[in-house]
Amino acid sequence: MKAISQHFYRHDFACPCGCGFADISKELVSLLERVYQYFERPVYVQLGCCCTYYNKAHGGEYATQHLLGAAADILVNTIAPDAVADYLENAYPKEYGIGRGESYTHIDVRPLPKRWRE
Ligand SMILES: [Zn+2]
Repeated sequence: MKAISQHFYRHDFACPCGCGFADISKELVSLLERVYQYFERPVYVQLGCCCTYYNKAHGGEYATQHLLGAAADILVNTIAPDAVADYLENAYPKEYGIGRGESYTHIDVRPLPKRWRE
């Protein structure tokens, strides 16, 4: 497996369908490293990249940023998803997409800020 940063592997971001798409944004990976350092807990990537096939099969217009390799749905070990979203919103008030899911936090590196609850 190929490490792309201190705590993440390319494999962590691969499309779940097995197509091999794992071309994740470097900016996003460094953002996730900052999350890791802030909470001092492992950050699990539930979904990173996804291809158009996987996206269609799993019902999402919402996944645009995942299609671009610019988004991750993450879970920080022992930390509530809302606390992760609170941290991100405070740390990056003027950029990025931050979505609050029940069991994960969506973060993407789009230039203009967008906030929502999934
Ligand atoms: Zn795929």
